[in-house]
Amino acid sequence: MKFPIYLDNHSTTPMDPRVLESMLPYFTEKFGNSASRNHAFGWEAEEAVENARKQIARLIHADAKEIVFTSGATESDNLALKGVAEMYHEKGDHIITSSTEHRAVLDTAKALGAKRGVKVTYLPVDKFGMVNPEDVRNAITDKTILVSIMFANNEIGTINPIKEIGKIAKEKGILFHCDATQGVGKVPVDVQDMGIDLMSFTAHKIYGPKGVGALYVRKKNPRVRIAAQMDGGGHERGMRSGTLPVPLIVGFGKACELCEQEMAADGARLSVMRDRLHANITKALEDVYLNGHPTERLPHNLNISFAYVEGESLLMGCKEIALSSGSACTSATLEPSYVLRALGVGAELAHSSIRFGLGRFTLDEEVDYAGKRIIETVTKLREMSPLYEMAKEGIDLKSVQWAAH
Ligand SMILES: *Cc1c(COP(=O)(O)O)cnc(C)c1O
Repeated sequence: MKFPIYLDNHSTTPMDPRVLESMLPYFTEKFGNSASRNHAFGWEAEEAVENARKQIARLIHADAKEIVFTSGATESDNLALKGVAEMYHEKGDHIITSSTEHRAVLDTAKALGAKRGVKVTYLPVDKFGMVNPEDVRNAITDKTILVSIMFANNEIGTINPIKEIGKIAKEKGILFHCDATQGVGKVPVDVQDMGIDLMSFTAHKIYGPKGVGALYVRKKNPRVRIAAQMDGGGHERGMRSGTLPVPLIVGFGKACELCEQEMAADGARLSVMRDRLHANITKALEDVYLNGHPTERLPHNLNISFAYVEGESLLMGCKEIALSSGSACTSATLEPSYVLRALGVGAELAHSSIRFGLGRFTLDEEVDYAGKRIIETVTKLREMSPLYEMAKEGIDLKSVQWAAH
């Protein structure tokens, strides 16, 4: 086994060596600008870009012409929300999203509210982190121009009922954007079947390079229009100007092709590993809680709260494993995850959560080692915890009157 062990595949994934290999010639001898129309260097680059566009479109059941290249999912989310708000402002000024979206959607919605007076409805989620499609229906007004709901959550792995939401949006004639960054390449995503009009995703979460992503923009039924957020050469059908990063795009295409071929087998293998990890932990420890949906979740995601233990201390105790905790460092304070809070998880348990993110290159022995180390460390930390001791003595911690400082 090699250390450190990487179990943080929701943050980013290592690049597949086959992806790197596909990219290399486009850094050196095949360096052309895909917008150069007058010579062989340009034609060669353009052909590579169009081939990648097809590979990407195939994975999500789109047409190659519906793929707009961006720098990543953050930019795609910005382009979708701002582009629709600007293009359709005469039709309305209301957007519906959910409280557990990625920051790239939440902060964009907030900025639209502050700078352009757009009204935003943040739908709640149930205790598993799922949006109720009926809530979407009930939130729609005659001013609604966009519904933006994520495919799968990056912290807890819960998969939303996207097809149902797409159907409601279509019935009401409202555009549907989906941040599918965590879903694409991991589980089947079909923009036709699911009624998605705009969709964000990125290469570096699917074993491709960092710095390239895509926005799917539907071309018919309906033909979606978005206002460009950058002025320039009019690349990408005028929606996103800028010289295309050909090597990154080639890698993105290859990454999508590999996902199409290997997604089912990867998912099946990883869910078995993930379930074994979960079983080992619950067998060895009491007071552990699964966060997210028990079945409607990404196959490689596990998110668990270990009561009486600080997630941060747990991570410090197993530094040879790369994991993520449910606390976010915001300036001076440690904030519990807003996603876990939205499910109704208390601040204490939110602070005690750990996200395990398995990936294509995760080995059985790595997962088993991680499980063993987590169990050891939780046991040790609990032995040192006065709270745990009190709880074990049968004292109801909620009834304790703590002395004020
Ligand atoms: C990672 C992630 C993003 C941001 O993607 P970048 O390509 O890093 O900008 C957006 N949404 C979700 C759900 C993500 O997981």
